[in-house]
This record gives sequence, structure tokens and C-alpha cells, in this order.
Amino acid sequence: MTDDTAPAWAAALVSWYRSSHRDLPWRRDPSPYAVWVSEIMLQQTRVDTVVGYFARFMDRFPTLSALAEADVGEVLRLWEGLGYYARGRNLHKAARRVAAELGGSLPSSAAALAELPGIGSYTGAAIASLAFGERIPVVDGNVLRVFTRFWGIFADVRTLQVKADLAARLSPVLAGVDPRDFNQAVMELGALVCSPKSPSCLTCPLIASCRAYACGWVAELPVRGRRAARPCHEVAVAAVVRSGRVLLSRRPDGGMLGGLWELPGGKCHGRSPSVAVVDKVREETGLVVTVRFKLCQLAHAYTHFRIALHAFVCEPETGEASALRGDEVRWCAPAELGTVAVARTTRQVLDALVASRWFR
Ligand code: SF4
Repeated sequence: MTDDTAPAWAAALVSWYRSSHRDLPWRRDPSPYAVWVSEIMLQQTRVDTVVGYFARFMDRFPTLSALAEADVGEVLRLWEGLGYYARGRNLHKAARRVAAELGGSLPSSAAALAELPGIGSYTGAAIASLAFGERIPVVDGNVLRVFTRFWGIFADVRTLQVKADLAARLSPVLAGVDPRDFNQAVMELGALVCSPKSPSCLTCPLIASCRAYACGWVAELPVRGRRAARPCHEVAVAAVVRSGRVLLSRRPDGGMLGGLWELPGGKCHGRSPSVAVVDKVREETGLVVTVRFKLCQLAHAYTHFRIALHAFVCEPETGEASALRGDEVRWCAPAELGTVAVARTTRQVLDALVASRWFR
């Protein structure tokens, strides 16, 4: 719904959204739970990737109470490959808190939602707006791009000041439009039309009022400060194999990749990877191992750094494996590997191990 107080461009945007938006599963059932799960999955992740994960997740955990009753290991197993695993752990933790302390219903305001694990101010605003109709601006990367172009703002979009400025400009607009449709319209416009490299201005519902288009500034906006280059670390991991089983270690719950299973190993710190891997296995598990052969080499980029990962097949010589750094260790048979939650690179190494004749 729009009323007379909405500027013409906002009404045009909402009208465009209603006729042109993508049919996404969480839009078919915009229950608070579905909106919450989708918003968490969409953090740092493309819509195309999320669609399949969302369907599997909702199939297994159709309600908040089903999620709250689940084991976190199963949640992480379904999250495998989606990355940023703290999102899955926090989703589970928040579901348990809502079930235990809030009568099983998500709070409806952005401020109250932001008190739950894994929901910051952006996601709180998105859920409150899309699921409960709160009249609050949702300012993500798409929104920053669209409106710095639309209003011709030449300020660094990485700064909090620009976000606050846009939120202040958008708040009165939201008083005159349906906040659900308006906020989704801006996000959709940023994803489909006002794209970073080649926006389709000629099909844009905002073209008549867009300052960047009128002034020829589209290619110059948004302004971004320079991002520091991400450092690259050399990492060595060991597939320690004994009696047809491979040794896995579970990371502590807090911190990066917390709760996932992994192969023992770590940063090389200038040592050759085949030397570093023997040291790391001893430090982490107490086992003395011998390197048999190099299994594979992978590259992977995280948000703040990249890794060059060297994986070796090793055999134990002396000692018994114990969890000196992680929470737990286990010897895993090939048939059990599909049941443990691991990060993408670990899965790639395990797949290479299973494909090798060494591990049958
Ligand atoms: S006219 Fe072009 S630059 Fe302006 S909002 Fe639309 S797509 Fe973006």
C-alpha cells in the first residue's frame, strides 16, 4: 500500500517490485521463521546459492521448535558448503533461546531481534520489516549502491556516516509506503537492475529522478575506500590413516569454523609444508606421524585472508591420538564421513582421500 505522502519515485519502485520480483521460496511463505532463516543464509551469500540450502533446511527443520530441538551437529551438517558457520550455530542458539525464554515466538521489533545471537542491526531491521511490517529502513550493500547513485552521494559507503545518512533520508519515505514491499523492492532493484558494474538504467523505475543518471555519475558511484590486500597463509593438513580410518578433530564451539570437524594441521610459518604438518599433528593430537605422500593442494579465500592448503597422507608411528587443541578426536571410516560437518576445503581433501587407493 502507498499513500499520498509517498514520493512518486517510491510509489513507482513499489509498483515495479510487485510486477517484476523473483519468485523466491521465502517470499512464498513470509512467516517470521522463514524470513529469519533466509536472512541469515543470505548474509554474505548469493541468492542462487541460498535457494537449495533454504529448501533442505526448511524441509528438515520446518518450525522454530524443530530447530530448537535439533542437535547442533545436524544443523552444521546441513550448513556445510554455505560457509560462515557461526551463522548456523547462532541460528540454533537463538532458536533455543526463543523456545525457552520467549514462548517460541520471534520478537517483532528490530531492536528486540538484534538482542538474539547472530542478528545484528541490519538483519534485525530486515526481519522486523519483511516479517512484521515495521517501518524501518534496511540498509545493506545493495541499498547503499542504489541510493548513493539515486541521490548522487559522493561519500565512502564503508563509513557508518553514510549508512546513517541514508537511513535518515529513507525513514520519512517509509511512512508512506508498505515497508515490506519497499525494502524488498530496493534490494531487488540493487540485485537485478542497479547492479555494480553495468546497471540497466533504461529499464529502471527510478530513472526519472536518479541524480547519477541525470549527471552521468553512474560509473563513479558508489565511492569505496581501498580495501587492504588479503594476506595469504600456507597451511598444511594431515589425513592420518590407520586401519582404514582417518583421524578427525572437532574445533571448539567459539571462533572461526567452531564446532566443525577438521583434519589436524595448521599454518606452516615458513617451514616446508611436509615438515610443518608432522609438527602440527604432534602438537594437536600427541601423535607422531610419517608423511607417506602429498594428496592434493588447494587455494581458498576467507573474508580477511587466503590460504594455500597442502594436504598429506600420513601414517601414525607412535602415540595415541587425543584432543590437545580441539574438543574431541575420532577415527572415521569412509562410510561415516558423510555424517560429519566439515568446512568446504576439508570436504575437498576428504573426497580426494576417498578417491585415492590408500583409503578403502
Ligand atoms: S537509473 Fe541507473 S543508476 Fe539510477 S537507480 Fe536506476 S539503475 Fe541505478
